[in-house]
Amino acid sequence: MASTIIPVDSFDLVIFGATGDLAMRKIFASLFRSLLAGQIPHNSRIIGAARSELSREQFCNTVRESLATFDGKAEIRKGALESFLNCLDYIRIDANGDDGWNDLSLMLAQNPNPVRAFYLSVGPSLFGGISERLAASGIALPKSRIVVEKPLGHDLASAIELNRKLSESFAEDQIFRIDHYLGKETVQNLMALRFSNALFEPVWNAQHIDHIQITVAETIGVDGRGGYYDKSGAMRDMVQNHLVQLLCLTAMEPPSRFEPNAVRDEKLKVLRALDAVDPLKVVRGQYRAAGDQSSYREEAGNTKSTTESFVALKATISNWRWSGTPFYLRTGKRLRARMSEIEIGFKAPPHSIFPDAGPISGNALVIRLQPDEGITLHMTIKEPGQGGIRLTTVPLDMSFADALGERAHNIADAYERLIMDVIRGDQTLFMRGDEVEAAWAWVDPIISTWQESREVPQPYDSGGSGPDMSLALMHNDGRRWREIEE
Ligand code: NAP
Repeated sequence: MASTIIPVDSFDLVIFGATGDLAMRKIFASLFRSLLAGQIPHNSRIIGAARSELSREQFCNTVRESLATFDGKAEIRKGALESFLNCLDYIRIDANGDDGWNDLSLMLAQNPNPVRAFYLSVGPSLFGGISERLAASGIALPKSRIVVEKPLGHDLASAIELNRKLSESFAEDQIFRIDHYLGKETVQNLMALRFSNALFEPVWNAQHIDHIQITVAETIGVDGRGGYYDKSGAMRDMVQNHLVQLLCLTAMEPPSRFEPNAVRDEKLKVLRALDAVDPLKVVRGQYRAAGDQSSYREEAGNTKSTTESFVALKATISNWRWSGTPFYLRTGKRLRARMSEIEIGFKAPPHSIFPDAGPISGNALVIRLQPDEGITLHMTIKEPGQGGIRLTTVPLDMSFADALGERAHNIADAYERLIMDVIRGDQTLFMRGDEVEAAWAWVDPIISTWQESREVPQPYDSGGSGPDMSLALMHNDGRRWREIEE
């Protein structure tokens, strides 16, 4: 089946926070790759905005340096790099003051493009002020888009307040809330797999699926972001957004079309059907020092911190499809390997006709998000050779890199895809305000009970798979986690 890139109209993209870490590490590199893929139309402008006093030339040099660091081939592709830098401009602007707003307005008015988008790559305390200013000054037009990054609040009340502030200046169909996990190729493939193969849908339910496990494991600690992370923790930083979104996409009913509100309505129904979790049954962990690696508390600069760097929990969904099938979620830092996976654990066959072959385990469908995106189906077959029937489990492996060859190298990275979707005005892979609030409503009681209780997170060793209690969470139910390995 041939696929084509859907062209976009030429655009003006203003990036607030253009000198910051996210912009320099991700946003410009993704936009550069979009240009290489022929996705940035002639005349489009990318305007960096921040308080730093920089000329256009100085700003372009900073972007050039960052591209050389994060896109190893940027220097080689010199011609393309120059075209990219030609799209750039810079404006000195203070989100909290009057400086620069008039200049931005004039710059945009000089040569307006059909699409205007504003990417707020700044701290969330600036979201309300910038959006208000954009609307009040007439810089944002009725069709302009605004992009906001996590954290989208730190609890339900602050998420409601943030949504309220954004909605004072922008309509919901103009607001793009980024969760970069949703931009990953495999996440969309999860929907393609479920809803384009008649094979899976009839068995995608509690009758056939024993349990589902979702793991997002990191090897890195919080070094460098300890101050921010210590006020957040794994529940807010990972579970409330990335893991819950993956759960929704795995559990949702088929939407009638792959359209923003059709998909988001189905995800919201899952969120609303999630049962409350007993906070004291959620496993919280915190990594301790090991060898030359420091402990979480050392990295966070808080010797008494009770913030969790690991969470494992069992979620259940009260609806017809999933009643009786638990979803186990696990995420943590400083674990054995960097991996994000969803495993669909099917039930074992109801009866074995091979009594001498021992128990037969259920099939497992593993959807790997990183590294090496791909899908594996674990099947039971006969062990080759003579001497009666012996059974063994083998993986049917579809690594995208192997299956798609050259085309796999052209897979867009999450930010690249999401930014182009903003320009297209396609919100399918972005979270709606009510989804964000529903996710907070589910995790809030867990976090507040932790805060009230005196329990501290379980210590765990760096390079392992988290606290022993996480293993027990599964073992007690007669199940086991997949190994954390690359
Ligand atoms: P950062 O490195 O601290 O950068 C902040 C940016 O905001 C800088 O460009 C800064 O430039 C600008 N800024 C600060 N105050 C301003 C003001 N009053 N007016 C105009 N510009 C102002 O932060 P970051 O890591 O890039 O993160 C940006 C946002 O993305 C945050 O909300 C963060 O939570 C979120 N996020 C970041 C990552 C990541 O990997 N970094 C991942 C996910 C989400 P000047 O000082 O020159 O003004």
